[in-house]
Amino acid sequence: MSNCLFCKIINKEIPSEILYEDDRVIAFKDVNPQAPVHILVIPKEHIESANDVDEGNSDVIGHIFAVINRLVKELGIDKDGYRIVNNCGEFGGQTVSHIHFHILGGRQLLWPPG
Ligand code: 5GP
Ligand code: ZN
Repeated sequence: MSNCLFCKIINKEIPSEILYEDDRVIAFKDVNPQAPVHILVIPKEHIESANDVDEGNSDVIGHIFAVINRLVKELGIDKDGYRIVNNCGEFGGQTVSHIHFHILGGRQLLWPPG
């Protein structure tokens, strides 16, 4: 998608601090971190939101969780714990219409969210 911010990050049209990349996903630091560790993991395929995940494209979501597992170990937050967040749509607080999973860690997180 030519006008999608995260597609531009995937295509390196917008710089980002990339922690992991393969043929299907990319993980990079959130530009406005909400915790000591705040990473975004996204599929390279433009899927707009959780509303658009179906049997035809859901394999990459499983792969994203495997990548997250690897990243949290590398970052040393796996033992203390962390949060994986997907915001969907307006009420969910989604601001970028390319599905993404936040990894938040490195501090005690609160619950419930606001
Ligand atoms: P959402 O609110 O849609 O769940 O999350 C979007 C996230 O993207 C936000 O946490 C925001 O800080 C991050 N973000 C927005 N623009 C950029 C950018 O240009 N680069 C990076 N690395 N993160 C961004
Ligand atoms: Zn996109």
